[in-house]
Amino acid sequence: MSVPPRKDWDTYFMDIAYMASTRSRCGRRQVGAVLVLGKKLLGTAYNGAPTGVEDCSEAGCMLVEEYEIVQRDSKEEMVKKQRCIRTIHAEQNLLLFTDRSDREGATVYVTDQPCWTCANMLANSGVREIVYHRGYPKDSDKVIKLMEQCGIAIRRLEDYAIPTGIQTLEPQR
Ligand SMILES: [Zn+2]
Ligand SMILES: [Zn+2]
Repeated sequence: MSVPPRKDWDTYFMDIAYMASTRSRCGRRQVGAVLVLGKKLLGTAYNGAPTGVEDCSEAGCMLVEEYEIVQRDSKEEMVKKQRCIRTIHAEQNLLLFTDRSDREGATVYVTDQPCWTCANMLANSGVREIVYHRGYPKDSDKVIKLMEQCGIAIRRLEDYAIPTGIQTLEPQR
């Protein structure tokens, strides 16, 4: 039997981020994130309720409703959306469980483009690069602008495919 083609590093670390996301118990969104320095894995995290607190699968999602401005046919529309606020986001957990000294100059691989709050925290975390797969249009423009201002590279893995066998939710918009 021949050895399957070797995965490049981007694919390798994004696969691990998706593997971490499968630990999430939120029925609306499963996000995984990993911290990488050079080619060394320094931490993994996913979105979840704080330790010892009932999670979304036990207590249900904690939903809030918000109005969001979306572009439709080149017009702006106010759309009511629901969001689960029970979980600590994957990127936030990653920051809580890694050391600042490990983050200096490191890369974060995250399954979904960071929301505004996570991006703001990552901007001050020592991380120098963010690599994501699924887009998060709501905050995308302001997140990309913020990263430009902070000199942090952010890029999307356009051609990445989630490995078959990893069961992860399609995020709800
Ligand atoms: Zn939830
Ligand atoms: Zn977030």
